Amino acid sequence: MDFDTIAAISTPLGEGAISIVRVSGPDAIPTVERIFKGKALSEVPSHTIHYGHIVENATNKTIEEVMVSVMKAPRTFTREDIVEINCHGGLVSVNKVLQLILSEGVRIAEPGEFTKRAFLNGRIDLSQAEAVMDLIRAKTDRAMNVAINQMEGRLSKLINRLRQQLLETLAHIEVNIDYPEYDDVEEMTHHVLIDKATDVRDEIKNLLETSKQGKILREGISTAIIGRPNVGKSSLLNSLVQEKKAIVTDIPGTTRDVIEEYVNVKGVPLRLIDTAGIRETEDIVEQIGVERSKQVLQQADLVLLVLNYNDVLVAEDERLFEAVADRDVIVIVNKTDLPKLIDLERVKALAQGHTLITTSLIEEEGIDELEKAISTLFFEGAIETNDMTYVSNSRHIGLLAQAERTISDAIEAIHNGVPIDMVQIDLTRTWEILGEITGDTVHESLIDQLFSQFCLGK
Ligand code: GDP
Ligand code: ZN
Repeated sequence: MDFDTIAAISTPLGEGAISIVRVSGPDAIPTVERIFKGKALSEVPSHTIHYGHIVENATNKTIEEVMVSVMKAPRTFTREDIVEINCHGGLVSVNKVLQLILSEGVRIAEPGEFTKRAFLNGRIDLSQAEAVMDLIRAKTDRAMNVAINQMEGRLSKLINRLRQQLLETLAHIEVNIDYPEYDDVEEMTHHVLIDKATDVRDEIKNLLETSKQGKILREGISTAIIGRPNVGKSSLLNSLVQEKKAIVTDIPGTTRDVIEEYVNVKGVPLRLIDTAGIRETEDIVEQIGVERSKQVLQQADLVLLVLNYNDVLVAEDERLFEAVADRDVIVIVNKTDLPKLIDLERVKALAQGHTLITTSLIEEEGIDELEKAISTLFFEGAIETNDMTYVSNSRHIGLLAQAERTISDAIEAIHNGVPIDMVQIDLTRTWEILGEITGDTVHESLIDQLFSQFCLGK
């Protein structure tokens, strides 16, 4: 495919000391060469880095001291010639470098356009491109590992293998349709068909089973902290927030901002609901009433219900228990450093089997147990290895669910002795649906829509 040359600043604005201007396309090298004082970039070997200065030719003024990497097609991210200019100066000079390049006839890249080119040039498939986006937005190391696995093509390989199996099965049916006179072929076909289709269905099912965890890692667990005034909600929030760590990867183009409202609990991102409410009004139940706090609770995947060890249970506590009866709840009895006034037996009865943790937030006790409880609540039974393929993207989950239904229809049809060419339709459809995950069978408008969600410079 023939593309023009594009450029963008490809590190998040304002973050870190180094910003990169990335240029990709057939004119990348000659364009940068024209404004670069140093080695002749058109003559240097591919994948080398060079020290020099960016100079404005009209005024002969030095704009920036830079390191320039030259990467020649096709062994690059976009499969085009890429030049990356590493600038040390602030925002102003980085922008100036970009402006200079644009004035040389290069076009500014649209959001996601580098990744889109990588896709269109066959460097990566659609699920890998989507993983680049997930990586940029990942909230914890664990979420990042999932995205990296997907970016490296783990999901794609699995999907491609399933599609291959389906193709073989379809080929088998073709033989049967072409030679219907062989009764034994027909016999065998039914058995082989059921076996093969069931294999594929089971693998799709397995993948779907990882999706709850995958979605949590990608999107976070929406979490509400509730309790009467003064039980320690803000203190709990603060001790959870302290655990938050910045995530910076050494994969080019993936440094990103840490998103504030997320708290990293053992690799599980918690998205705290109404955090401002807790901080400012000190108590959502008191301020906005039980009805409103019930609404807040409706959005929550997880409720942390805080009680005071140093106080007796009152009617309001019991109401809170009622309000969260059908939710994932962890009950926290806080202030164990103070004398016990609470009736713990009654708390256990109210908790109805939900996990109960005692803490002294002041003495930093019980926080680790709480974090473990959160992580087991959502990863119970899930295999937690870094090289696990999780499905995390809603688009992929939707397609897998559709594929599972379609292939189940096919299996049922075979069982019911439905004519084989009907079965063929369902299997072909399954093959197509799976292909939408990797982008083999997607519509161009979907591709445009997906890539437009990207950040600038990626
Ligand atoms: P909130 O109203 O539920 O948000 O409660 P806060 O987090 O604002 O805490 C209320 C008061 O209890 C503050 O003075 C905290 O320092 C104190 N506090 C919180 N946790 C503990 C604890 O574990 N032990 C003791 N002794 N005091 C605590
Ligand atoms: Zn508070």
